[in-house]
Amino acid sequence: MFGRSTSTRRQLAIAAAAAWLLCPGPASALDVARLSPDDTETLHAILQALEPSITAKQRAGTAALLTWEELYEPLPPAQRAFLDAFRALKAASLGATAHFFGEPAAPPELVPVGPQEVVKDGAAAPLDPQYLPRPVLSAYRRMMDAMEVDLGTRLRVESGYRSTAYQLYLFLFYLPKHGGSITETNRFVALPGHSEHGYPPRQAIDFINEAGINGEDHPEEFEALPEYRWLEQHAARFGFALSYPRDNPHHTAFEPWHWHYTRETGNRSRDSR
Ligand SMILES: [Zn+2]
Repeated sequence: MFGRSTSTRRQLAIAAAAAWLLCPGPASALDVARLSPDDTETLHAILQALEPSITAKQRAGTAALLTWEELYEPLPPAQRAFLDAFRALKAASLGATAHFFGEPAAPPELVPVGPQEVVKDGAAAPLDPQYLPRPVLSAYRRMMDAMEVDLGTRLRVESGYRSTAYQLYLFLFYLPKHGGSITETNRFVALPGHSEHGYPPRQAIDFINEAGINGEDHPEEFEALPEYRWLEQHAARFGFALSYPRDNPHHTAFEPWHWHYTRETGNRSRDSR
């Protein structure tokens, strides 16, 4: 009896190990506090393998529209499984409260924001092409028309819509810069499915001003801008709200440049634009 249960247990253990080999348990295998040396090696290999295709999309101005197929295409199965593990991660499991939006049910209808530039050291520098749902682009333009009347300047869209696949790429890209800590990276870059940039009903825009100030390294620089104070006073009138104020309960860093559209961008608002 005893012997039989031991062998059953051994068979179960072998079966479990085989199942794990066939389908490596994703999220649970990742150490969210700090990637294991093996996972760090895999991450670097993936970033290297993706470099050519991502750079090509960035040059073409379509990186923000990256599809899952395009992301996975250059990678062997083991590296695809590694990406799957990240896709399965939920911010809640990191002790963060970022909302899980999931992915848009259908590919969103997006329009290009159009050519944009900032002036750096006296020279015009073009920004990467950006895309927004049409109602959000209209509301943004109305808001900037009003800002220009008041301040004589407009904010640019440094980042608008970003596909969930591109969001995952960005997360992986920034992960080594935060010591391989998924938990720490998540304070600055949302996990795929958790970003307002990839969720048109709550579309986010990261603003940058005419002089190229975006607050990325020093949020207080953006916070000190007259444009930011103007947004605080007037953005709600145009349907925009600040997502991550100082000391927000989401364990997300203060992001004075990141505002989201608060009105549903479905068919009705499209019809009534
Ligand atoms: Zn943002």
